[in-house]
Amino acid sequence: MRFKGILYFLIVYMIIGVFSVYADDLIKEDIDYTELTKQLKMFEKEYSDILSVYSIGKSCDNRDLWVAKLGKSNIGIIIIGAIHARERITAKVLLQNIKDYCKAYKEGVSFEGYNLKELLDKASIYFIPMTNPDGVDYTFYGKKAVRDKNLLKNLKNIRVKKDPSWKSNIMDWKANIRGIDLNRQWNVLWGIPSRFIRRRPSNDHFQGFKPHSEPEVKALEQFTLNTPCLGYYAYHTQGSVLFWYKNQKGIYLDEVYDITRGLKNITGFKPIPKLSKSLRYWDTRMGYADWTAYKLKKPSITLELAWNGYDEKRDFKKIYLSVKKVPLYLLKKAIDYSKFYNVEVYKEDKLVQLFRDLNDAKIYIEKFIKDKFDREVKVFENGALVLTLNEKKQNLKVNLNIVKEKINKIEDDMNVLIMKPEDFAKIKHQIMVIKILFSFGKM
Ligand SMILES: [Zn+2]
Repeated sequence: MRFKGILYFLIVYMIIGVFSVYADDLIKEDIDYTELTKQLKMFEKEYSDILSVYSIGKSCDNRDLWVAKLGKSNIGIIIIGAIHARERITAKVLLQNIKDYCKAYKEGVSFEGYNLKELLDKASIYFIPMTNPDGVDYTFYGKKAVRDKNLLKNLKNIRVKKDPSWKSNIMDWKANIRGIDLNRQWNVLWGIPSRFIRRRPSNDHFQGFKPHSEPEVKALEQFTLNTPCLGYYAYHTQGSVLFWYKNQKGIYLDEVYDITRGLKNITGFKPIPKLSKSLRYWDTRMGYADWTAYKLKKPSITLELAWNGYDEKRDFKKIYLSVKKVPLYLLKKAIDYSKFYNVEVYKEDKLVQLFRDLNDAKIYIEKFIKDKFDREVKVFENGALVLTLNEKKQNLKVNLNIVKEKINKIEDDMNVLIMKPEDFAKIKHQIMVIKILFSFGKM
């Protein structure tokens, strides 16, 4: 009996020990926009060798959309939080990650078995903790948070549908300050009727009058298109699940399947749909992670970090502990898979994207041209961009180049690019990097 007693004591002591490591360092403040800004600036000052903080644009009500770039390379992954206002605890979780990782990096210690120096010298995590700052501040302060007179006036036109699982009307707010759900704005099956549809601005679920209309979405879109990343992850809070499958096939499915399996082991969250490699079509639409999966062909997962009815203060530690190493795990995976992403796209000499396959790069470039000139294009006829203007074919530019940097000559370039990962390993020393350089000049 006595031995058993000591054993219990030891177990309890060990559990308390593990948790108390964080007791002093957990962020205590509520993270509204002002507090987020303050803490990010503070961390940037303290850890300037590894962290840089900058704005990628403004919200409707003129708040900055902060990115905290942790790491030394431009290649990395993007993790966004608080795109849904009431799920604001995700901003605090990501801020806590930034704080803990910076500290461990500076002290030269590993974090949960991850060697921070090794990882962050090779690649970066782009944290965007608060994608919807106006909405977040509305959930804290209601009307008082709205700065612009017209936005304030417009509030009365926004329909509020109460969800009883949230404590108050303002806490129930999910949209941006114009009543548009920023995670239903993305142009993947946009506007096709579904059971959640709302026809006008609302505290939740209204997709907007057209896709990508909101400044928060535009800013995140441009940032994502112009940053060479190998994975996109969106933090939400409802259900402790992983929405991982976006109808990928082949090597794309293998990669996201592998990443999700590890995420499941770390977090205990349930993958939806169930992890399998023989899945049917899955109806997935209008979210940030849908858009990145479809347009950029890279792993894109929505993580729901909590359960219905969680309490922000009481449950913060529990929620944080379940995901504290997730960004490092995702970064490690991106580094492991980076060897398959050998098609590099440059704009004006700046690396902006990486792809597995030349075809994926073509889709991306076509989109870029379409956005810039509002014309449909088919790229790469005889190595030049061909743009159709007023039904006449015109060559738009001369300085598009596909540069192949050969390590060893391989006969069939395209075959190399569409090979399976296991084949890659065999011929690793022979892989070539294809650089696509494009910029706009006169004919
Ligand atoms: Zn959400």
